[in-house]
Order: sequence, then C-alpha cells, then structure tokens
Amino acid sequence: MDFIDLAQQYKKISNNIEIAISKVLNHGKYILGPEVKELEDTLAKYVNVKHCISCSSGTDALLMVLLANNYDKTDAVFIPSFTFISTAEVVKLSGATLFFVDVDPKTYNIDIRSLEGQINKAIDLDFTPRCVIPVNIFGLCADYDELKAVSNKFNLFVLEDAAQSFGASIGNQKSCSFGDASATSFYPSKPLGCYGDGGAIFTNNSNLYEKLISIRNHGTTKDNKYKHDIIGINGRLDTIQAAILIEKLKIFDNELDRRQIVANIYKSILEPKFKFQHIPKLYVSSYAQLSIVLNSQEERDSTIAKLKDKGIPTAVHYPIPLHKQVVYSSHNYISLKNSELISNTIFSLPMHAYLSENEITKICNVIND
Ligand SMILES: *Cc1c(COP(=O)(O)O)cnc(C)c1O
Repeated sequence: MDFIDLAQQYKKISNNIEIAISKVLNHGKYILGPEVKELEDTLAKYVNVKHCISCSSGTDALLMVLLANNYDKTDAVFIPSFTFISTAEVVKLSGATLFFVDVDPKTYNIDIRSLEGQINKAIDLDFTPRCVIPVNIFGLCADYDELKAVSNKFNLFVLEDAAQSFGASIGNQKSCSFGDASATSFYPSKPLGCYGDGGAIFTNNSNLYEKLISIRNHGTTKDNKYKHDIIGINGRLDTIQAAILIEKLKIFDNELDRRQIVANIYKSILEPKFKFQHIPKLYVSSYAQLSIVLNSQEERDSTIAKLKDKGIPTAVHYPIPLHKQVVYSSHNYISLKNSELISNTIFSLPMHAYLSENEITKICNVIND
C-alpha cells in the first residue's frame, strides 16, 4: 500500500502523457513553449481568475508575489504557524519581517483573533502590517469572509497559499481565487501534481500580472531581454511539465470526486470516535491530506507504529509548528497553543483517488483496534 499512489494514476493516462511529452520533444520549445500558455489559460478559466502565471514551484509562486510587492524589514507579513516550511521561508527571503499566528483548533486554518492580536503587536513594535498568507491547510480553504474584514481594516494584501487546495471550493467559488494573489503547487503528491516541480500564481490584478511575468524571467523587460528593471528569479515552469498538467487536468474533477468518496468512507467508519479536520458547510476540501487527531502524542506515536507493523504507511503533517523550528528560534518567545497541540497529536492517513474500499476498511480496522 502507498501513502499516495501515483503509479495507478499514471497507468490510467500513460498513453496521453507520452504523446504529450513527445510532442514537446519534437517541437523543441522546452522553455516557455506553447503548452505553457495553453495551461495558464486553462487554469485561469478553471478557477475563474483573469490571469495565471505558471512557475517553477509552489514556493517560488509565493516568493514571486512577495518580491513583486517589494517589502523590506519594516513590513510585517503574517502566516499561520501550522503549515509547511515554505510559507515562512519565502517571507524571510523577501526581506519582510515574519509574524506567526495561531490556528483554529477545529479547521487548523489561521485563527482570526490570533491574527488581530499579532497585527496589533506588530504595530506596537513599529512594523507596518502589509500582508497575510492564509494557508488552505490539507486542502480546506480558510475563512475568507472573516479574513476580508481584517485585511480591509488593516489594508493587508491577501496572498492565498493554495499549494494544497487546488480544486477546493467554498460554495461556487474555487480556491486560487480568494486572494489578491493566490499561489498553488504542482509537486507530484499535491491534488494536481506534475512529474517534477511546478506551481502557479493567480490574480485579477493586471499590473501585478505584468510584474510577475517579468520576475519569473530574471526581471527582464518586455522588449529587451537583457534590460532588467526589477530583481527577478529563474521561476519558469518547464514546457514538458505544462504538457503533463494539461493531460492531468482532464481527469482532475473525477479524481476530486473520488477523494470525497474516499474521505467519506474513512469518516463513516472512524467518526465520531476519531476527530477529523472540521469541514464547514459549503466548503469542499481537495483532501491533500486526511488527518486524524488523537488524545496524546504517545497515543499518536503508538498508533502510527502499529499501522506500520501492518504495512500501512502514514505521515505526520506537521510534527513541529514553524515558530518552534530552530531556524525561527528568535520567534520562540510566543506560545501558539493550538498549533503546538495539533502538531503533537495529529497524523495523516493514506489518501489518494485510487484507494479502494477494501484498503480503507483494513486501515480503519487497525486504528479502531
Ligand atoms: C507544498 C507546499 C508549498 C510549496 O510547494 P512546492 O511546490 O513544494 O514548492 C507551500 N505551501 C504549502 C502549504 C505546501 O503544502
């Protein structure tokens, strides 16, 4: 059994993938070839946002937006502590000052009251609040209505970290459309993955779009390749990866439906004895991860060990909240209770679109034991 089974998916679409790749090999436009623009147009339409800029990874997607906003160390950027390390590192790399925020104990997404507290603290310390990066953790969108109230009040730029939530939605609005800019990842194990690294940025802001196109290509100007007016990076998505994603998108909605079914089977067996991430009404998660929280770290660790004995792989997302990471040790003066508790007691179950009911039952039996 695999934690995330990418082989079954490949088997299903291997013919089309191989044709798509060989098309690129034959036309030879390996960098920014026609498939890149085709993918961007398709993705923008899918999430109903004006502009899509594909790029080299989810991390670079976040970084490029922060670079475009031109922050310095007097500028404060707020992120939840319970997330993957990328969300923090890009803030540091952009030159802004990082503030960690606690998460909600039920949704594990950014907690609005903690956010307001940290914003006020930043103001007291003479920083200018500039940006919040809500993370749609495990594929569940944050509460963007609540966030909008705070971001309007403090004039914050909202950068949606949708690395785990491509395909998720609230009502009829899709993830990647909730931020002033939104960043997603096509890392192979994400809900929509390519066969290497990849990512994309979405925005309705045409000025920002033009700037990001330049930043993606070393800050080059439109009509002179060797004239640079802003600092950029090499942030391009390979044409081959774009061609792969075009094919994968064709089966993506079916896979999303399968993920809902898989999650529902798990929950029908394990709830209410075991606690899952709370999915509020009207929210559809893309289930990048399906996690449960146990009563203690000991109980969590022994359950993981028992599952491993039976050949069932699990993972812990994430064992150390970011404000407790050595690299951010200067931030250790804050205690973020919910992030710490969740990190100590959570673990993720095998989750992918091709998991069978038999496999799920087998996993659940061990957990119920
Ligand atoms: C995976 C992930 C990223 C980074 O994406 P990469 O494509 O691996 O660079 C950023 N934020 C979150 C929350 C992620 O899960």
